[in-house]
Amino acid sequence: MKQQLELYVHIPFCARKCNYCDFLSFPQPADVQSHYVTQLLREIRAAKAECRDMTVRSVFIGGGTPSLISESFVAELMAVIRGCFDLAEDAEVTIECNPGSTLRHKFAAYRRAGINRLSIGLQSADNAELKMLGRIHSFEEFLKSYQNARMEGFQNINVDLINCIPMQSLKTWKKTLKTVLMLKPEHVSVYNLIIEEGTPFYQMQQEGLLMMPSEEEQAEIDSFTKEYLARQNYHRYEISNWAKEGMECRHNCGYWTGVPYLGFGLGAASYFKKTRWNNTSDLDEYMRCDFTGEDRVSIRKSVHELSRNERIEEFMFLGLRMTEGISSTVFLSEFGQHLDSIYGKILDKDIIGGLVESTGGRYRLTDRGMDISNVVLSEFLLADQPEEA
Ligand code: SF4
Repeated sequence: MKQQLELYVHIPFCARKCNYCDFLSFPQPADVQSHYVTQLLREIRAAKAECRDMTVRSVFIGGGTPSLISESFVAELMAVIRGCFDLAEDAEVTIECNPGSTLRHKFAAYRRAGINRLSIGLQSADNAELKMLGRIHSFEEFLKSYQNARMEGFQNINVDLINCIPMQSLKTWKKTLKTVLMLKPEHVSVYNLIIEEGTPFYQMQQEGLLMMPSEEEQAEIDSFTKEYLARQNYHRYEISNWAKEGMECRHNCGYWTGVPYLGFGLGAASYFKKTRWNNTSDLDEYMRCDFTGEDRVSIRKSVHELSRNERIEEFMFLGLRMTEGISSTVFLSEFGQHLDSIYGKILDKDIIGGLVESTGGRYRLTDRGMDISNVVLSEFLLADQPEEA
């Protein structure tokens, strides 16, 4: 059987910057977008030779706002991907969409290009909250986009939401979640807002101008989220992700279970042949690259072959993010060592503390463990331990 591979394509363009966003994204005119896509196509073609014996199980076109660029560019991207890689017949192919930039004809074109999953960034169903976040769309525009997507035949849709945002109350969050679930999306991602340095929100926070929900309110919001999604038959399969049965995002599950992936485009991350790197985040450098010979790899920065300990850490960090957790049998076959011999004490302590549970050779975070996952997962660092030969 051929080795599995995932592809990520980064489109860094947005109509304007949201107040909380620290992603690699910015507005650019149409001619820059067009040149960027040409560069992407060159980068993708140049990777063909590296992946002859691999099957692509998922493609994720993310950003930024991929739906901002012309649908003909998206079709071209998909055609080149198909021409260069062995794309599995049942591959999951996702594009991220912004409700302010999606018209029905775009969805039709995406379907023709072979895209079978949409991830729509709504964030909130409350127009005042959307304005506060600096989003370019209203809830009504989202609704129109969502209906258009359904009419064009999309049967696998994720809706992205953010909670614990400034001025949000349990009441407005309940309304958002209930309104969205009435639409029956197959998948819902819910992220707690994090105030990132360098964003307008960060500046406002420094000046004492951000009215964040209190810790108590945030706990109520989180607890309602878990309880309500479960009641509506969405199962939590990762810290921030819920899906109807069988509709988990294959691409993201691949990240968390160590499937290799190649990232194309500005700042895109890759994990390939046990090595990680990030493409340059300098747009000029990316635009200048001719993707031949040495130049092709010159845009790869922070290239780092993972040590055995780093791979073990990632196995734990990423695997425990998922509600199915990690398997001690897989650990043994992967690393030739028993899980208990490395993490036995930590796991025992966390089991007693109610943060981890164990059944049938699998370990997973409990609900409480998920709530403080940052703290729990940091215990699995191996930095001070010697590498095994
Ligand atoms: S649409 Fe997404 S990527 Fe673009 S600025 Fe807003 S949050 Fe950032």
